[in-house]
This record gives sequence, structure tokens and C-alpha cells, in this order.
Amino acid sequence: MKRIAVYCGSNKGGRPEYAAAAQALGALLAREKIELVYGGGMVGLMGIVADAVLEHGGHVIGVIPEKLVIKEVVHEKLPDLRVVKTMHERKAMMAELSDGFIALPGGYGTFEEFFEVLAWSQLGWHQKPFGLFDVGGYYHHLLEFLDHTAREGFIRAQHRDLVLAEKDAERLLRRMKAHLPPAEIKWVR
Ligand code: AMP
Repeated sequence: MKRIAVYCGSNKGGRPEYAAAAQALGALLAREKIELVYGGGMVGLMGIVADAVLEHGGHVIGVIPEKLVIKEVVHEKLPDLRVVKTMHERKAMMAELSDGFIALPGGYGTFEEFFEVLAWSQLGWHQKPFGLFDVGGYYHHLLEFLDHTAREGFIRAQHRDLVLAEKDAERLLRRMKAHLPPAEIKWVR
């Protein structure tokens, strides 16, 4: 994998372990020579993961809509910042540039971005791996809910299994590298 898109909170969250995990992930990506693609912000976990990659000698590509190019929001020290017109362009570019996707803890923005590319995968539009970085069990209830959706017949079991969840960054990345896309790409009928 050459590049991974990381979706994460524009807030730091209420527990220090979230920031620590963002830092650990950034350091790991730099060490593995995997470039970070992210939303281009300096706020919250977004800024922390980008700074960690840069501090450890890695490369970062930020993709940000022009409306968010505001002094307090945009990361001004990125080696590669791409300013796009809309949020939709941003998400398409981030997905296109990346060979895999990781969600750190976050809120609506994080869920929205992660689930959009996941839905594209379900349609067979790409076969890139998904990692949910379940820091301190943050995504426990979401993972349970995904199991529920599969049991209820709204997501196929093999599509439920697209979401690789781990509490440790290295283990998560290892599983993503070993990921094989499912043969079945159809929706549940
Ligand atoms: P959230 O999880 O709601 O905090 O949203 C974070 C996600 O939405 C990030 O992955 C970004 O792509 C996008 N986003 C939300 N707020 C900002 C912001 N202030 N600056 C840049 N991107 C943002």
C-alpha cells in the first residue's frame, strides 16, 4: 500500500488515548513509508495524525474544500495541499488517491466519509481495504450494530466483514495488507 486515507475527528475527543492513537498511527504510517491522505485540517485528531507523520519523516497529502481554507482550520505546513471546490470532490479525490482507508474515532464527518467509500466497495467499484481503529473500544457499539444489520439481512456477511476492526494500529495495518476482497459484490435483494 502506497497511500492510506485516514478519516478522523476534527475534535480530539474526551480521553487522551484518542490523541495518543492518532500519534501512533501517524508514526506507523511514516515508518512503513505509507503516505497519509486526509482532510487537510490542523484541528483535532486530524492535525495530530498529520503532524505525527511529518515528524517521523513521512509524506502527507491534504485534500480540503475551499470553504474550509480558513486560518484556524487548514494545516499550513503540509508538503502537498490540494484545494478542491466541494466536499464531494474532496471525498472522491481522497478515495481515488488511496489504496486503503482507516477511520480513527470521530463524529458525523468521519462516519460519513468512511461509510461512503465502504458502500462503493460493496458495489464492487473498488477493492481497497477498510480499517476501523477501535481505540479503547470507541467503536464497540457501532460494530455490534453492523452485526445486527447483517443478522437482519441488510448487509451481507461478507460485506460486514469488509470492516476490519482492531484496537492496535500495527495489527490493523497488518490485517489490511493481508485483506482479500470478497468475490460477491451484489446487494442483498
Ligand atoms: P467529524 O468526525 O465530524 O469531526 O469530521 C471529521 C471529518 O470531516 C474529517 O475526516 C474531515 O474530512 C471532515 N471535517 C470536519 N470538520 C473539518 C474541519 N474543520 N476541517 C477539515 N475537515 C473537516
